Amino acid sequence: MNLILKIKSNKMKIKKKNKIYQGKSKIIYSTNNSDVLILKFKKDMSRLNGKYIKKFDNKDIINNKFNYYIMNKISSFNIKTHILSLLSDNQVIVKKLKMIPIEFVVRNYAYGSLLKRFLIKERSFINPPILEFFFKNDGLKDPMINEYHCISFNLISENHIKKIKKILYKINNILKDIFYKAELILVDFKLEFGLFNGDLFLGDEFSLDNSRVWDKNSFKKMDKDIFREQLNENVIESYKEVANRIGCLID
Ligand code: 5GP
Repeated sequence: MNLILKIKSNKMKIKKKNKIYQGKSKIIYSTNNSDVLILKFKKDMSRLNGKYIKKFDNKDIINNKFNYYIMNKISSFNIKTHILSLLSDNQVIVKKLKMIPIEFVVRNYAYGSLLKRFLIKERSFINPPILEFFFKNDGLKDPMINEYHCISFNLISENHIKKIKKILYKINNILKDIFYKAELILVDFKLEFGLFNGDLFLGDEFSLDNSRVWDKNSFKKMDKDIFREQLNENVIESYKEVANRIGCLID
């Protein structure tokens, strides 16, 4: 029986062991199974590279449920993700991947760092969508890189980058559709991938911390930009509203 079935059928009891990494939005724990990790979502929201951190009640629960819902939608289209099963309101059991140190960003509308790098009008529709790669390195402030850097610096193989590009376009189409049906626009998002026995899997998380989502009619920001830009809106209520609108029901 494969790992997913074993865990889903609950024959394999996963036990949390040691904290192995603490990020800005999640804590990672090892388990009694060396192929399996537990991700615990945090209440923290940070801006300016972690300089400012604020805790929000329920943020951990909303992001865990939202991520689980989106990841399951993605895997229903035959894209492999690291998700195995929900452990609790704010924790999820995942496959342990060897993470690729690249942030993959997909952009459908112009906003954020794109506006600083190009003379492009805010909110312009980008067609076809732009894919960007960033080297994950806090010390270097995640510099933008291209496919040549990725391959020559051995961050990823040529074959895997080809596959990831295809997967990113497919995920973008799946998600754009889900949001559009809820009268929402998927502006951009960031994803990360990893390898398990040489196979590619979508890792990390999809949440409103690493994507931009606007109301389709008013263009109101519904994502982490509310916190980044200190807008006069309740960021947690907004996260909840997006989740509920796409069918991921959160009370
Ligand atoms: P930008 O490059 O415009 O700052 O970000 C593009 C998209 O990727 C946004 O949806 C943003 O939330 C996400 N993103 C980019 N870098 C990071 C990062 O280091 N952490 C997180 N959580 N999201 C990121």
